[in-house]
Amino acid sequence: LASRDFHPDDTVIDIKGTRIGGGNLVVMGGPCAVESAQQIDEIAQLVKAAGGQVLRGGAFKPRTGPYSFQGVGVEGLIMMAEAGQKHGLLTITEVMTPEYVDICAEYADILQVGTRNMQNFDLLRKLGTCGKPVLLKRGFSATYDELLNAAEYILAGGNPNVMLCERGIRTFETYTRNTLDLSAIPVLQGLSHLPVISDPSHGTGRRELVEPMSKASVAAGADGLIIEMHTDPDNSMTGDGVQSLFPDQFAALLKDLEQLAPLV
Ligand code: PEP
Ligand code: MN
Repeated sequence: LASRDFHPDDTVIDIKGTRIGGGNLVVMGGPCAVESAQQIDEIAQLVKAAGGQVLRGGAFKPRTGPYSFQGVGVEGLIMMAEAGQKHGLLTITEVMTPEYVDICAEYADILQVGTRNMQNFDLLRKLGTCGKPVLLKRGFSATYDELLNAAEYILAGGNPNVMLCERGIRTFETYTRNTLDLSAIPVLQGLSHLPVISDPSHGTGRRELVEPMSKASVAAGADGLIIEMHTDPDNSMTGDGVQSLFPDQFAALLKDLEQLAPLV
């Protein structure tokens, strides 16, 4: 079902009038994690003012260590839904377990599957019937074929609205957190009709690389970007402050991107 042979035309996902895929560029911006109502409200306002269409933020965080901040949970879903509604933005948040799919689907417009859960097949099956679009991140050691098979689980469950996301893979390089695989963008678009979103934040792990890799992703044909932005990155509650743009950098980037491709 994910294959272009089966479905030659690009899939366009229409969420409350915002069309993702088929030549439009969507920008999703926001913090790694929802930290407080004030934080997400402030950032939502900045994302909107810069021309972004979707507010990102994790309420449930898949942390490498069990003692790290795990997210504010359901409260965070509520805070983000309120901020999105107030500022006229769609919202995207990560769901980690099948049990939480229903509540995340109640509050968010798009559900995100994280890199560590790309092959959580019970979660993928549940997302097949959740009624909301899904952004499926590529596992950091997954091949294109494995990513497309993971998407197949969601599609086979009856949910046609899946976006694929390149977020960097693990290589021998240690300077960057991951290696953003730009080839994934045209390759996946050739193999599949699903929209392809690039995540230069996790793909590089370094703030100064987000701008060039965002532009490179758009030049390579990406249907959208998901970018971390924080008002106080040095004090963010996850380690991802080092890859988060400052609000003025985010705004400047979106201005430049408009020259490359019209924002949805
Ligand atoms: C995130 O988007 O904050 C995140 C945890 O991403 P990934 O699953 O790609 O590491
Ligand atoms: Mn993050």
